[in-house]
Amino acid sequence: MASDRRDQAVRAAVDQALLTGTEPVAALLDVAGIRASAAALRAAFADVTDAPVLHAFAVKACPLVPVLRLLYEAGLGAEVASPGELALARAAGVPPERIVLDSPAKTPAELREALALNIAVNADNPQELARLDTLLAAHGHTGSPLGLRVNPQIGGGTIDALSTATATSKFGIALRDEGARARVVQAYLARPWLTRLHTHSGSQGVPLGLMVTGIKEVYELAEEINAAAGRRQVDTIDIGGGLPVNFTSDDETPTYAEYARLLATEVPGLFDGRYGLVTEFGRSLLAKHGTVLARVEYAKTSGSRPIAVTHAGVQVATRTVYDPASWPLRIAAYDAKGRPKQGPAVDQDVAGPACFAGDLLAVKRPLPLLEQGDIVAALDTGAYYFAHHYAYNSLTRPGVYGFTVRDDGSVRFATVRPPQTVAEIVAEAGGGHPDALLTDC
Ligand SMILES: *Cc1c(COP(=O)(O)O)cnc(C)c1O
Repeated sequence: MASDRRDQAVRAAVDQALLTGTEPVAALLDVAGIRASAAALRAAFADVTDAPVLHAFAVKACPLVPVLRLLYEAGLGAEVASPGELALARAAGVPPERIVLDSPAKTPAELREALALNIAVNADNPQELARLDTLLAAHGHTGSPLGLRVNPQIGGGTIDALSTATATSKFGIALRDEGARARVVQAYLARPWLTRLHTHSGSQGVPLGLMVTGIKEVYELAEEINAAAGRRQVDTIDIGGGLPVNFTSDDETPTYAEYARLLATEVPGLFDGRYGLVTEFGRSLLAKHGTVLARVEYAKTSGSRPIAVTHAGVQVATRTVYDPASWPLRIAAYDAKGRPKQGPAVDQDVAGPACFAGDLLAVKRPLPLLEQGDIVAALDTGAYYFAHHYAYNSLTRPGVYGFTVRDDGSVRFATVRPPQTVAEIVAEAGGGHPDALLTDC
Protein backbone atom coordinates (compact mmCIF):
# COMPACT_ATOMS: atom_id res chain seq x y z
CA MET A 1 0.00 0.00 0.00
CA ALA A 2 1.20 3.49 -0.83
CA SER A 3 1.02 4.74 2.78
CA ASP A 4 3.05 1.73 4.04
CA ARG A 5 5.68 2.35 1.39
CA ARG A 6 5.74 6.00 2.43
CA ASP A 7 6.28 5.13 6.10
CA GLN A 8 9.13 2.81 5.15
CA ALA A 9 10.68 5.51 2.99
CA VAL A 10 10.48 8.18 5.71
CA ARG A 11 12.21 5.86 8.17
CA ALA A 12 14.87 5.03 5.59
CA ALA A 13 15.36 8.70 4.67
CA VAL A 14 16.34 9.34 8.30
CA ASP A 15 18.50 6.20 8.55
CA GLN A 16 20.27 6.97 5.27
CA ALA A 17 20.80 10.64 6.22
CA LEU A 18 18.85 12.27 3.40
CA LEU A 19 17.38 14.56 6.02
CA THR A 20 20.04 16.14 8.22
CA GLY A 21 20.78 19.25 10.19
CA THR A 22 22.19 20.92 7.09
CA GLU A 23 19.64 19.43 4.66
CA PRO A 24 16.45 19.87 6.67
CA VAL A 25 14.11 19.37 3.68
CA ALA A 26 14.00 16.44 1.26
CA ALA A 27 11.47 15.39 -1.35
CA LEU A 28 10.64 11.76 -2.08
CA LEU A 29 9.11 10.15 -5.17
CA ASP A 30 7.53 6.70 -5.02
CA VAL A 31 8.77 5.02 -8.20
CA ALA A 32 6.38 2.06 -7.92
CA GLY A 33 3.46 4.45 -7.52
CA ILE A 34 4.44 6.45 -10.61
CA ARG A 35 4.77 3.26 -12.66
CA ALA A 36 1.37 2.08 -11.43
CA SER A 37 -0.31 5.34 -12.42
CA ALA A 38 1.25 5.25 -15.89
CA ALA A 39 0.09 1.65 -16.34
CA ALA A 40 -3.41 2.51 -15.11
CA LEU A 41 -3.66 5.37 -17.60
CA ARG A 42 -2.61 3.21 -20.54
CA ALA A 43 -4.92 0.37 -19.51
CA ALA A 44 -7.91 2.68 -19.04
CA PHE A 45 -7.81 3.86 -22.66
CA ALA A 46 -6.75 0.50 -24.10
CA ASP A 47 -9.91 -0.93 -22.50
CA VAL A 48 -12.20 1.41 -24.43
CA THR A 49 -10.47 1.83 -27.80
CA ASP A 50 -8.17 0.15 -30.32
CA ALA A 51 -7.25 3.57 -31.74
CA PRO A 52 -3.66 4.73 -31.32
CA VAL A 53 -3.29 6.86 -28.17
CA LEU A 54 -0.29 9.00 -27.23
CA HIS A 55 -0.30 9.77 -23.52
CA ALA A 56 1.85 12.91 -23.39
CA PHE A 57 2.73 13.71 -19.77
CA ALA A 58 2.30 17.43 -19.07
CA VAL A 59 5.93 18.24 -18.23
CA LYS A 60 4.94 21.34 -16.25
CA ALA A 61 3.49 19.07 -13.54
CA CYS A 62 6.92 17.58 -12.70
CA PRO A 63 9.77 18.99 -14.79
CA LEU A 64 12.49 16.56 -13.70
CA VAL A 65 14.47 14.68 -16.34
CA PRO A 66 14.61 11.27 -14.58
CA VAL A 67 10.84 11.42 -14.06
CA LEU A 68 10.26 12.11 -17.76
CA ARG A 69 12.59 9.22 -18.56
CA LEU A 70 10.72 6.88 -16.20
CA LEU A 71 7.40 7.83 -17.79
CA TYR A 72 8.83 7.40 -21.28
CA GLU A 73 10.04 3.92 -20.37
CA ALA A 74 6.52 3.28 -19.05
CA GLY A 75 5.12 4.05 -22.51
CA LEU A 76 4.27 7.75 -22.20
CA GLY A 77 5.42 10.86 -24.06
CA ALA A 78 5.69 14.53 -23.13
CA GLU A 79 3.52 17.62 -23.54
CA VAL A 80 5.77 20.69 -23.44
CA ALA A 81 4.95 24.39 -23.31
CA SER A 82 8.28 26.24 -23.34
CA PRO A 83 11.83 25.90 -24.67
CA GLY A 84 12.90 24.70 -21.21
CA GLU A 85 10.29 21.96 -21.09
CA LEU A 86 11.15 20.83 -24.60
CA ALA A 87 14.83 20.65 -23.63
CA LEU A 88 13.95 18.58 -20.56
CA ALA A 89 11.92 16.11 -22.64
CA ARG A 90 14.76 15.77 -25.13
CA ALA A 91 17.32 15.36 -22.33
CA ALA A 92 15.15 12.52 -21.04
CA GLY A 93 15.39 10.84 -24.44
CA VAL A 94 11.73 11.32 -25.38
CA PRO A 95 11.67 11.07 -29.20
CA PRO A 96 9.95 13.75 -31.31
CA GLU A 97 7.01 11.52 -32.23
CA ARG A 98 6.10 11.35 -28.55
CA ILE A 99 6.29 15.10 -27.91
CA VAL A 100 3.51 17.67 -28.27
CA LEU A 101 4.18 21.43 -28.08
CA ASP A 102 1.39 23.59 -26.66
CA SER A 103 1.67 27.07 -25.05
CA PRO A 104 -0.18 30.26 -25.79
CA ALA A 105 2.96 32.30 -26.51
CA LYS A 106 5.27 30.41 -28.85
CA THR A 107 7.93 32.55 -30.54
CA PRO A 108 8.83 32.09 -34.21
CA ALA A 109 12.08 30.47 -33.07
CA GLU A 110 10.20 27.90 -30.99
CA LEU A 111 7.89 27.09 -33.88
CA ARG A 112 10.82 26.77 -36.26
CA GLU A 113 12.61 24.39 -33.90
CA ALA A 114 9.49 22.26 -33.42
CA LEU A 115 8.93 21.98 -37.16
CA ALA A 116 12.58 21.13 -37.74
CA LEU A 117 12.33 18.35 -35.15
CA ASN A 118 8.96 17.07 -36.48
CA ILE A 119 7.34 17.68 -33.11
CA ALA A 120 3.55 17.99 -33.01
CA VAL A 121 2.35 21.56 -32.48
CA ASN A 122 -1.03 22.83 -31.38
CA ALA A 123 -1.44 26.42 -32.54
CA ASP A 124 -3.26 28.70 -30.14
CA ASN A 125 -4.73 31.42 -32.33
CA PRO A 126 -5.02 32.85 -35.87
CA GLN A 127 -1.76 34.83 -35.58
CA GLU A 128 0.09 31.63 -34.78
CA LEU A 129 -1.54 29.93 -37.77
CA ALA A 130 -0.23 32.79 -39.91
CA ARG A 131 3.28 32.18 -38.55
CA LEU A 132 2.96 28.51 -39.41
CA ASP A 133 1.83 29.50 -42.92
CA THR A 134 5.03 31.53 -43.33
CA LEU A 135 7.31 28.84 -41.93
CA LEU A 136 5.74 26.12 -44.05
CA ALA A 137 5.98 28.30 -47.17
CA ALA A 138 9.69 28.79 -46.47
CA HIS A 139 10.45 25.13 -45.72
CA GLY A 140 8.07 23.32 -48.02
CA HIS A 141 6.83 20.70 -45.61
CA THR A 142 7.25 19.32 -42.12
CA GLY A 143 6.69 15.97 -40.48
CA SER A 144 5.10 17.76 -37.52
CA PRO A 145 1.45 16.91 -36.98
CA LEU A 146 -0.24 20.30 -36.65
CA GLY A 147 -3.42 21.21 -34.85
CA LEU A 148 -5.36 24.05 -33.34
CA ARG A 149 -6.44 24.58 -29.76
CA VAL A 150 -10.05 25.53 -29.27
CA ASN A 151 -11.83 26.72 -26.16
CA PRO A 152 -15.32 25.24 -26.00
CA GLN A 153 -16.27 27.91 -23.42
CA ILE A 154 -18.16 25.42 -21.29
CA GLY A 155 -17.43 27.26 -18.04
CA GLY A 156 -15.05 26.97 -15.12
CA GLY A 157 -14.46 24.68 -12.19
CA THR A 158 -13.92 25.49 -8.52
CA ILE A 159 -10.50 27.14 -9.01
CA ASP A 160 -10.60 30.18 -11.29
CA ALA A 161 -6.86 30.27 -11.91
CA LEU A 162 -6.94 26.75 -13.34
CA SER A 163 -10.14 26.94 -15.41
CA THR A 164 -9.16 27.21 -19.07
CA ALA A 165 -12.55 26.82 -20.78
CA THR A 166 -14.29 29.90 -19.43
CA ALA A 167 -15.94 32.48 -21.69
CA THR A 168 -12.86 34.73 -21.59
CA SER A 169 -10.02 32.25 -21.08
CA LYS A 170 -6.70 33.23 -22.67
CA PHE A 171 -6.26 29.80 -24.30
CA GLY A 172 -7.15 28.73 -27.82
CA ILE A 173 -9.85 30.00 -30.14
CA ALA A 174 -13.07 30.82 -28.30
CA LEU A 175 -15.48 28.63 -30.22
CA ARG A 176 -18.74 30.28 -29.19
CA ASP A 177 -17.66 33.82 -30.03
CA GLU A 178 -19.59 35.39 -32.89
CA GLY A 179 -18.49 33.80 -36.18
CA ALA A 180 -15.58 31.90 -34.59
CA ARG A 181 -16.77 28.40 -35.41
CA ALA A 182 -17.17 29.18 -39.12
CA ARG A 183 -13.73 30.82 -39.17
CA VAL A 184 -12.19 27.71 -37.62
CA VAL A 185 -13.78 25.48 -40.26
CA GLN A 186 -12.49 27.84 -42.97
CA ALA A 187 -9.02 27.81 -41.43
CA TYR A 188 -8.95 24.02 -41.79
CA LEU A 189 -10.29 24.04 -45.35
CA ALA A 190 -7.58 26.55 -46.29
CA ARG A 191 -4.84 24.48 -44.63
CA PRO A 192 -4.86 20.80 -45.60
CA TRP A 193 -1.97 20.24 -43.18
CA LEU A 194 -4.12 21.04 -40.13
CA THR A 195 -4.98 17.52 -38.99
CA ARG A 196 -5.51 17.80 -35.25
CA LEU A 197 -7.86 19.49 -32.82
CA HIS A 198 -6.86 20.20 -29.24
CA THR A 199 -8.68 21.21 -26.08
CA HIS A 200 -7.84 21.26 -22.38
CA SER A 201 -10.64 22.48 -20.18
CA GLY A 202 -8.69 22.95 -16.98
CA SER A 203 -6.86 21.27 -14.17
CA GLN A 204 -7.79 20.54 -10.54
CA GLY A 205 -11.33 21.65 -9.75
CA VAL A 206 -13.01 20.95 -13.09
CA PRO A 207 -15.57 18.14 -12.65
CA LEU A 208 -15.35 15.11 -14.99
CA GLY A 209 -18.74 15.82 -16.52
CA LEU A 210 -17.65 19.29 -17.58
CA MET A 211 -14.37 17.99 -19.05
CA VAL A 212 -16.35 15.44 -21.05
CA THR A 213 -18.70 18.17 -22.32
CA GLY A 214 -15.71 20.14 -23.62
CA ILE A 215 -14.29 17.10 -25.41
CA LYS A 216 -17.67 16.30 -26.91
CA GLU A 217 -17.84 19.82 -28.37
CA VAL A 218 -14.42 19.38 -29.94
CA TYR A 219 -15.33 15.95 -31.33
CA GLU A 220 -18.41 17.48 -32.96
CA LEU A 221 -16.27 20.23 -34.44
CA ALA A 222 -13.92 17.61 -35.92
CA GLU A 223 -16.91 15.88 -37.51
CA GLU A 224 -18.10 19.20 -38.92
CA ILE A 225 -14.67 20.03 -40.38
CA ASN A 226 -14.32 16.58 -41.92
CA ALA A 227 -17.81 16.78 -43.44
CA ALA A 228 -16.98 20.19 -44.94
CA ALA A 229 -13.64 18.91 -46.24
CA GLY A 230 -15.19 15.78 -47.66
CA ARG A 231 -12.36 13.71 -46.18
CA ARG A 232 -10.95 12.73 -42.83
CA GLN A 233 -8.78 15.80 -42.54
CA VAL A 234 -8.85 15.88 -38.74
CA ASP A 235 -7.38 12.51 -37.85
CA THR A 236 -6.35 13.07 -34.22
CA ILE A 237 -8.06 14.68 -31.25
CA ASP A 238 -6.00 15.88 -28.30
CA ILE A 239 -8.24 15.82 -25.23
CA GLY A 240 -5.81 17.52 -22.83
CA GLY A 241 -5.32 16.49 -19.22
CA GLY A 242 -6.93 17.74 -16.04
CA LEU A 243 -8.05 14.63 -14.19
CA PRO A 244 -8.54 16.00 -10.65
CA VAL A 245 -6.59 14.58 -7.71
CA ASN A 246 -8.04 13.68 -4.32
CA PHE A 247 -6.03 15.64 -1.75
CA THR A 248 -8.07 14.43 1.24
CA SER A 249 -6.99 10.78 1.60
CA ASP A 250 -4.73 8.11 0.07
CA ASP A 251 -7.53 7.01 -2.29
CA GLU A 252 -6.79 7.67 -5.95
CA THR A 253 -10.14 8.97 -7.12
CA PRO A 254 -11.46 9.59 -9.68
CA THR A 255 -9.63 6.92 -11.68
CA TYR A 256 -8.48 7.01 -15.29
CA ALA A 257 -10.78 4.03 -15.90
CA GLU A 258 -13.82 5.98 -14.70
CA TYR A 259 -12.92 8.91 -16.89
CA ALA A 260 -12.26 6.77 -19.99
CA ARG A 261 -15.55 4.89 -19.51
CA LEU A 262 -17.47 8.14 -19.09
CA LEU A 263 -15.89 9.51 -22.27
CA ALA A 264 -16.66 6.30 -24.14
CA THR A 265 -20.31 6.52 -23.06
CA GLU A 266 -20.76 10.22 -23.79
CA VAL A 267 -18.58 10.55 -26.91
CA PRO A 268 -18.56 7.05 -28.45
CA GLY A 269 -17.42 8.33 -31.87
CA LEU A 270 -14.12 9.35 -30.32
CA PHE A 271 -13.25 5.73 -29.68
CA ASP A 272 -14.54 3.91 -32.76
CA GLY A 273 -11.12 3.91 -34.40
CA ARG A 274 -11.57 6.84 -36.79
CA TYR A 275 -9.51 9.21 -34.64
CA GLY A 276 -6.14 8.86 -33.03
CA LEU A 277 -6.00 10.32 -29.53
CA VAL A 278 -3.57 12.37 -27.50
CA THR A 279 -3.93 12.89 -23.75
CA GLU A 280 -1.95 15.35 -21.59
CA PHE A 281 -2.32 14.31 -17.97
CA GLY A 282 0.03 15.82 -15.42
CA ARG A 283 -1.13 16.14 -11.82
CA SER A 284 -2.99 12.83 -11.73
CA LEU A 285 0.15 10.90 -12.76
CA LEU A 286 2.46 12.35 -10.11
CA ALA A 287 0.69 14.12 -7.25
CA LYS A 288 0.07 11.15 -4.97
CA HIS A 289 3.58 9.81 -5.39
CA GLY A 290 5.48 12.74 -3.94
CA THR A 291 6.18 13.67 -0.30
CA VAL A 292 8.07 16.61 1.17
CA LEU A 293 9.85 15.86 4.44
CA ALA A 294 11.00 18.62 6.76
CA ARG A 295 12.53 18.80 10.20
CA VAL A 296 10.75 20.69 12.96
CA GLU A 297 13.43 23.22 13.90
CA TYR A 298 11.50 24.71 16.82
CA ALA A 299 8.21 24.05 18.58
CA LYS A 300 6.63 27.07 20.26
CA THR A 301 3.30 28.59 21.20
CA SER A 302 1.85 31.93 20.21
CA GLY A 303 -1.48 33.23 21.46
CA SER A 304 -1.54 29.83 23.20
CA ARG A 305 -1.57 28.05 19.84
CA PRO A 306 1.16 25.44 19.32
CA ILE A 307 3.28 26.12 16.24
CA ALA A 308 5.79 23.76 14.69
CA VAL A 309 8.34 25.83 12.79
CA THR A 310 9.64 23.62 9.99
CA HIS A 311 11.81 24.08 6.92
CA ALA A 312 9.04 23.41 4.38
CA GLY A 313 6.95 26.41 3.47
CA VAL A 314 6.26 28.69 0.57
CA GLN A 315 9.38 27.60 -1.36
CA VAL A 316 8.03 24.06 -1.84
CA ALA A 317 4.27 24.59 -1.38
CA THR A 318 3.68 27.94 -3.03
CA ARG A 319 0.06 27.42 -4.01
CA THR A 320 -0.92 26.11 -0.60
CA VAL A 321 0.70 29.01 1.23
CA TYR A 322 -0.77 31.74 -0.98
CA ASP A 323 -4.18 30.11 -1.57
CA PRO A 324 -4.75 27.70 1.32
CA ALA A 325 -8.49 27.42 0.72
CA SER A 326 -7.98 26.02 -2.80
CA TRP A 327 -4.92 23.90 -2.04
CA PRO A 328 -5.10 22.28 1.43
CA LEU A 329 -2.39 19.65 1.93
CA ARG A 330 -2.46 16.62 4.19
CA ILE A 331 0.32 16.61 6.77
CA ALA A 332 1.65 13.45 8.43
CA ALA A 333 3.69 13.61 11.64
CA TYR A 334 6.77 11.46 12.29
CA ASP A 335 9.17 11.41 15.21
CA ALA A 336 12.88 12.21 14.98
CA LYS A 337 13.66 8.64 13.91
CA GLY A 338 11.07 8.73 11.16
CA ARG A 339 8.44 6.60 12.90
CA PRO A 340 4.77 7.63 12.67
CA LYS A 341 4.20 9.93 15.63
CA GLN A 342 1.71 8.77 18.24
CA GLY A 343 -0.30 10.81 20.71
CA PRO A 344 -3.59 12.67 21.05
CA ALA A 345 -4.42 15.13 18.30
CA VAL A 346 -3.76 18.76 19.19
CA ASP A 347 -4.74 21.70 16.99
CA GLN A 348 -1.51 23.34 15.85
CA ASP A 349 -0.01 25.36 13.03
CA VAL A 350 2.67 23.91 10.79
CA ALA A 351 4.81 26.82 9.66
CA GLY A 352 7.48 27.23 7.02
CA PRO A 353 10.81 29.05 7.36
CA ALA A 354 10.03 32.12 5.22
CA CYS A 355 9.86 35.60 6.70
CA PHE A 356 6.21 36.46 6.27
CA ALA A 357 3.32 35.61 8.56
CA GLY A 358 1.35 33.67 5.97
CA ASP A 359 4.07 31.07 5.43
CA LEU A 360 2.00 28.23 6.90
CA LEU A 361 1.54 24.71 5.53
CA ALA A 362 -1.43 24.09 7.80
CA VAL A 363 -3.43 26.10 10.32
CA LYS A 364 -5.09 24.63 13.43
CA ARG A 365 -4.40 21.14 12.14
CA PRO A 366 -5.15 18.29 14.57
CA LEU A 367 -1.92 16.25 14.81
CA PRO A 368 0.07 14.58 17.59
CA LEU A 369 1.85 17.49 19.27
CA LEU A 370 4.98 18.15 17.22
CA GLU A 371 8.28 18.59 19.04
CA GLN A 372 11.69 19.90 18.13
CA GLY A 373 13.49 17.38 15.89
CA ASP A 374 10.30 15.68 14.67
CA ILE A 375 9.59 15.37 10.96
CA VAL A 376 6.53 16.58 9.09
CA ALA A 377 5.53 15.14 5.75
CA ALA A 378 3.50 17.19 3.26
CA LEU A 379 1.62 14.54 1.27
CA ASP A 380 0.45 14.43 -2.36
CA THR A 381 3.16 16.90 -3.38
CA GLY A 382 4.54 15.04 -6.42
CA ALA A 383 3.06 17.49 -8.94
CA TYR A 384 3.30 21.29 -8.94
CA TYR A 385 4.96 21.43 -5.50
CA PHE A 386 8.62 20.63 -4.80
CA ALA A 387 9.40 20.55 -8.50
CA HIS A 388 8.17 24.17 -8.64
CA HIS A 389 10.56 25.84 -6.28
CA TYR A 390 9.87 29.45 -5.36
CA ALA A 391 13.04 31.30 -4.49
CA TYR A 392 11.68 33.38 -1.58
CA ASN A 393 14.28 34.21 1.09
CA SER A 394 16.91 32.54 -1.14
CA LEU A 395 15.91 29.19 0.32
CA THR A 396 17.71 26.34 -1.44
CA ARG A 397 15.90 23.85 -3.64
CA PRO A 398 15.70 20.57 -1.70
CA GLY A 399 17.08 17.31 -3.05
CA VAL A 400 14.57 15.01 -4.75
CA TYR A 401 15.01 11.27 -4.30
CA GLY A 402 13.15 8.44 -5.97
CA PHE A 403 12.62 5.39 -3.78
CA THR A 404 11.79 1.74 -4.23
CA VAL A 405 10.98 -0.66 -1.42
CA ARG A 406 12.43 -4.14 -1.87
CA ASP A 407 10.68 -7.37 -0.85
CA ASP A 408 12.78 -7.55 2.33
CA GLY A 409 11.52 -4.09 3.31
CA SER A 410 14.78 -2.30 2.60
CA VAL A 411 14.52 1.02 0.79
CA ARG A 412 16.76 2.14 -2.05
CA PHE A 413 17.01 5.82 -2.96
CA ALA A 414 18.16 7.31 -6.25
CA THR A 415 19.00 10.99 -6.57
CA VAL A 416 16.63 12.67 -9.03
CA ARG A 417 17.90 16.19 -8.29
CA PRO A 418 20.68 16.98 -5.80
CA PRO A 419 20.01 19.67 -3.22
CA GLN A 420 20.89 23.15 -4.43
CA THR A 421 23.94 24.60 -2.71
CA VAL A 422 24.28 28.06 -1.21
CA ALA A 423 27.17 28.67 -3.64
CA GLU A 424 24.75 28.01 -6.52
CA ILE A 425 22.32 30.53 -5.08
CA VAL A 426 25.05 33.15 -4.97
CA ALA A 427 26.11 32.38 -8.54
CA GLU A 428 22.52 32.58 -9.83
CA ALA A 429 22.10 35.91 -8.02
CA GLY A 430 24.84 37.70 -9.94
CA GLY A 431 27.62 36.56 -7.61
CA GLY A 432 29.98 36.35 -10.56
CA HIS A 433 29.90 40.11 -11.17
CA PRO A 434 29.34 41.94 -7.87
CA ASP A 435 30.68 45.27 -9.23
CA ALA A 436 28.28 45.34 -12.18
CA LEU A 437 26.39 48.39 -10.92
CA LEU A 438 29.40 50.35 -9.73
CA THR A 439 30.98 50.92 -13.11
CA ASP A 440 29.42 53.16 -15.75
CA CYS A 441 26.93 51.21 -17.79
C1 LIG B 1 -1.48 22.13 -17.46
C2 LIG B 1 -1.90 21.47 -18.72
C3 LIG B 1 -2.10 20.10 -18.76
C4 LIG B 1 -2.01 19.22 -17.53
O1 LIG B 1 -3.02 19.46 -16.60
P1 LIG B 1 -3.14 18.51 -15.31
O2 LIG B 1 -4.23 19.10 -14.52
O3 LIG B 1 -1.84 18.55 -14.61
O4 LIG B 1 -3.47 17.12 -15.80
C5 LIG B 1 -2.40 19.53 -19.97
N1 LIG B 1 -2.51 20.27 -21.10
C6 LIG B 1 -2.33 21.60 -21.10
C7 LIG B 1 -2.47 22.35 -22.36
C8 LIG B 1 -2.03 22.24 -19.91
O5 LIG B 1 -1.87 23.57 -19.90
